[in-house]
Amino acid sequence: MTTTPRTALTIAGSDSGGGAGIQADLRTFFACGVHGLVAVTAVTVQNSLGVQGFTEIPADVVADQIKAVAGDMGVDAAKTGMLATAEIIRAVAKTLDETGIGRGSGVPFVVDPVAASATGHALLREDALEAIRTELFPRATLVTPNLDEVRLLTGVQVTDAAGQRRAAEALLGFGPQWVLVKGGHLQGSPECTDLLSDGSEWVELTGPRYDTGNTHGGGDTMASAITASLARGATVPEAVAAGKRFIERSVAESYSLGAGVGPVSPFWRLAGRTD
Ligand code: PLP
Repeated sequence: MTTTPRTALTIAGSDSGGGAGIQADLRTFFACGVHGLVAVTAVTVQNSLGVQGFTEIPADVVADQIKAVAGDMGVDAAKTGMLATAEIIRAVAKTLDETGIGRGSGVPFVVDPVAASATGHALLREDALEAIRTELFPRATLVTPNLDEVRLLTGVQVTDAAGQRRAAEALLGFGPQWVLVKGGHLQGSPECTDLLSDGSEWVELTGPRYDTGNTHGGGDTMASAITASLARGATVPEAVAAGKRFIERSVAESYSLGAGVGPVSPFWRLAGRTD
């Protein structure tokens, strides 16, 4: 008999280009050895050149997807990506409480506060940022904003390590257990340094910066790798370190696809390599 793998749930939007959103989440979960469960929040129309538009899924259908899988299969860790509207965010928060997912429940919950695509297209309606802060952050085991999302959520414009620490403190003020302020968007830095904190422990994770234009889905892939590690029982610092290693290799092995920005790739893991 085969052992049943741990499960990880992604609550996120679909990317027709297959490189970001639930597609990135599922291929990362697979590569990390966990069974992926899905609650689709929105269907985007996009390719390597950008997002042409999106349609959101009704909030009660998002909630029902979560209840269906949580009640039957069980969820060992969950993450959010694109949530599209405040109504969906409120429904997700309520459903997490009902299904016992999130901070204090024993089932880790990662919030990747997706606000816009790298090409600048909004993936969130305007009133939804406030809902992310008030409804999701207090329930989060970990939040993983990039510097653009940090600016939108806190007003802090990070330009150096001190700014990264100020941003982490501001984000902790919204109530998540841990914050990871990712430094990948810090211009002019030869390395990518991410800052992880729960308010008492401060961990800097530094890695190489790769000269590639193909970074589509990078944030989703990192948050999913972290979620997969949490599903397998890692602590938050262990899971973030594993997620950092995973995204580094996935950026190093990203590929061109289409005329615009190509996706990061987890294929290296399937080739049996673990470097
Ligand atoms: N589309 C969807 C559905 C996403 O969830 C995301 C990011 O989370 C994107 C597009 C944007 O991806 P990127 O900014 O990496 O191009």
